Amino acid sequence: MPSSSVDRQETGPARAALYAWGGPGTIALIRHKYHDPRIDAASFLQLYEPDYLRAARQTLGITDMWVTYSWGFSDETEQSHYRYIVERLPNFDAEGIAAYAYIQGLNLSTRDFRDVDVFCHDSRGHLLAYSRNRALTCPNNPAVRQIILDRVERASRADFAGVFIDNFLFGLPPFLVRQDYIPFFGCACAHCQRAFKAQFGYRLPLAEKRGMEQIGDYLRFRAHTMTGLLAELSQVAHANGKRFGINLYDPYVYAPELYIGYALDQIAPLLDYYLIENHSLGPRNTVNNTHLLPLLEGADKPVFIVSYRNGISYDGVYSQATINALWSEAAVLGYAPCLKATEYVTDGVWHALDIAQVQPPTIRRGPVFAHTAQPQIPRTSLALERPLIGVISRLYPRVAHAIFNNRLLARIVVESPIYARLVRQRRFVDCSAWLTPPQTGVQ
Ligand SMILES: [Zn+2]
Repeated sequence: MPSSSVDRQETGPARAALYAWGGPGTIALIRHKYHDPRIDAASFLQLYEPDYLRAARQTLGITDMWVTYSWGFSDETEQSHYRYIVERLPNFDAEGIAAYAYIQGLNLSTRDFRDVDVFCHDSRGHLLAYSRNRALTCPNNPAVRQIILDRVERASRADFAGVFIDNFLFGLPPFLVRQDYIPFFGCACAHCQRAFKAQFGYRLPLAEKRGMEQIGDYLRFRAHTMTGLLAELSQVAHANGKRFGINLYDPYVYAPELYIGYALDQIAPLLDYYLIENHSLGPRNTVNNTHLLPLLEGADKPVFIVSYRNGISYDGVYSQATINALWSEAAVLGYAPCLKATEYVTDGVWHALDIAQVQPPTIRRGPVFAHTAQPQIPRTSLALERPLIGVISRLYPRVAHAIFNNRLLARIVVESPIYARLVRQRRFVDCSAWLTPPQTGVQ
């Protein structure tokens, strides 16, 4: 692996941010999403208060914060959540911190939308679980588009600096990828079937996708859908003078066309900044985002990076040494560090970041070893493995539902370190072979 050293600077990054889910909406979400969580509720109610914001600015140099607006409950459930954050926006103005309304993307509460046609389906009509009590929603479904448009519009009318969409996922990611064969991924609902037929002139293959052309068409279909919806959402935000962004995850760790749905070159012009969420924080306070240097060097807009160690619910409170490491790398590589301020679990209790425990970061000198992300070219499938993959594929949505919603399975699977490690796995697949052939069917 190539390596090079980069000179460290002593000054901190010019911008710094908090990924700060808080307020009553976030407390409700944690209760909704997990089985009997123990929650330090008071800590979630401190995040948007004047003292907290002042300390965040003075200690960490915070300039930008993502704050809870909508978690994907019904409007009725969320009325008090909207009111809570909008009433506190003057606190952010007083400290010169830009607040972005965090809106949950393509998933909704299955409790609040029990009898509404909004959810993705697999080829057999099963819902696609996103977490306990939540399922993925389809970007081709007009009702889903309306719900998210309404939320972006409502937030755009309030005094936020911008609007942000998280989890902009088009259906389930594939659990296995072969060059010529990918078992069920994405969504197979009636809205997708109609839209696909209209664009490509043949029926959407509902279960697995076979052959280069079929896989390529499906990836183009998903990217085209995502770009169209994001264009509408960004237009609403921009018409109201708001900055617009989405969570990109890490486009150099997961191939976004496969695992998320978007194509970066298509959506980049719609975004006012990039927010990357990844697992670049390693053991012993190492942090390495140098694989993102091509993006950082080519970006014509601010780049915020949220580097997790294990991710939401798997990380205890970060030490000062961890914060120092995050701020140091950001200063060297020229991005804005974004520290998660919430959903830590320490000694079994959910809590937000206690800003009083944080010191101004020390920016350290020292070599940084650059690594590049090499996309993998998937191999072709074997005739013998396809039937087995087909069986697993049929079980996949039901297993996903069970591991989140069954209390015992959730404890064994979702809450285990093995699951956290699985989520950290890189899946950077070279999609060019599917996406570069002549696009004969696209309108
Ligand atoms: Zn669909």
